[in-house]
Amino acid sequence: MISGIGALMVVIVAVVFYAFLAWFVFKNWNNSHPLSIYEYVEQFPQVKTKKGIICRHCGSRSLRNLGIDEETDNRRLITCNGCASPLYHMSR
Ligand SMILES: [Zn+2]
Repeated sequence: MISGIGALMVVIVAVVFYAFLAWFVFKNWNNSHPLSIYEYVEQFPQVKTKKGIICRHCGSRSLRNLGIDEETDNRRLITCNGCASPLYHMSR
């Protein structure tokens, strides 16, 4: 049988663990797409065309814009639809 203090310790450990996990996921959400949209356009000026931003690898204008947790998430990862290259991230 777990004493009151023992149960409290289990709850505290669980809360700390989930807080750390949330922090870790939040901090690393754009790991796979390290460039922001501004850095992407600055480093590869040719991607900015009159018709919008294109893939710097294959020149495709078809880009996939995915939310992190759900489709309405404000944190977005933009990936090329043509060659699947990770391009940039942005927050709205
Ligand atoms: Zn591409």
